[in-house]
Amino acid sequence: MSIAENLHIIRKRIAEASMSSGRKPEDISLIAVTKTRTAAEADEAVHAGISGIGENRVQEAKQKFPLLSTSPARHMIGHLQSNKAKDAVKLFDIIQSVDSLRLLAEIDKEAKKNNKIMDVLAEVNIGGEASKSGMKPEELPGFMAGAGKYLNIRVRGLMTIAPFLASSEQVRPYFKKMKKLFDDAARFPAPNVKMEHLSMGMSGDFVTAIEEGATMVRIGSAIFGERK
Ligand SMILES: *Cc1c(COP(=O)(O)O)cnc(C)c1O
Repeated sequence: MSIAENLHIIRKRIAEASMSSGRKPEDISLIAVTKTRTAAEADEAVHAGISGIGENRVQEAKQKFPLLSTSPARHMIGHLQSNKAKDAVKLFDIIQSVDSLRLLAEIDKEAKKNNKIMDVLAEVNIGGEASKSGMKPEELPGFMAGAGKYLNIRVRGLMTIAPFLASSEQVRPYFKKMKKLFDDAARFPAPNVKMEHLSMGMSGDFVTAIEEGATMVRIGSAIFGERK
């Protein structure tokens, strides 16, 4: 099936899931994850209505972005090392994978040099998995409080990659925990912090994520086909 046909099916599923959870389909943003895909494939998704794309590696984005003929919002979704913050700030519109104040400080420094206010999400390792990056849930309040002094940063929400489990019912509790952290953080007043985006849900679990409160889903293989 074509990218446009896949997107049509995904949009229908997003609409159903959002309505069944009492929200409007347009309140859920769909980010097309273009890692391992060509610039032409990313352009095709944009022509089919996608307004944001996600990449997980700085190096790949650096090569691909100049080849795009469209201008979607660019989301960094992969683990970011401090020494790559400089490139990431120039390449991306939002960095979803900020997992420490140390990295935040580095991004702030580079954003300042570029005269830019950088949008970021705080990544949480909700399953406590050693294989995944992200901060522990209990580190979040300290992160939010500490973010206030970085004037070239705007924390706009939370992101997580849920554990890969056999059924959607098994992942549901992790999405529920994220929603609670998101609501708690929204009540916690801190400068430069505004909880607008809850980025969770991928090809295999986005329906459950939306039912539990996701406002942003990041979908790759269901749009472009399986990655090799
Ligand atoms: C690859 C990736 C996705 C998309 O995964 P699919 O299962 O292909 O939809 C989403 N989020 C992150 C952080 C990723 O690295």
